[in-house]
Amino acid sequence: MRTMTLSAMEFIRRFLQHTLPSGLMKVRYYGFMHACSGVSADKVRAAVELMQGFDVSDPVVTDAIETCTALTCPKCGGKLLYRYSVLPHQMNPPPHAKQIIKEQSRQNE
Ligand SMILES: [Zn+2]
Repeated sequence: MRTMTLSAMEFIRRFLQHTLPSGLMKVRYYGFMHACSGVSADKVRAAVELMQGFDVSDPVVTDAIETCTALTCPKCGGKLLYRYSVLPHQMNPPPHAKQIIKEQSRQNE
């Protein structure tokens, strides 16, 4: 263990680095999820099957991705192109997105 003397402001700054904004939850990896855990997936599967009384099966891989069709415009039926995502914390779109929106609305006039 290391001991050090800090000013009050430095202590508060370091302390607040470990405080999450409200609404966020820290994800911790422990137990069988920890990277250093030596427990195999088969052992976890067997334990779940024993405790819960049902078989744990691997997810079935299908070719669903190949059968997906492109999204189409509800007005003209044209193929929609992915340009960007707006995440909830980005509700004010970035300048380049505003430019794209402006160009598209000009084309649709
Ligand atoms: Zn359209």
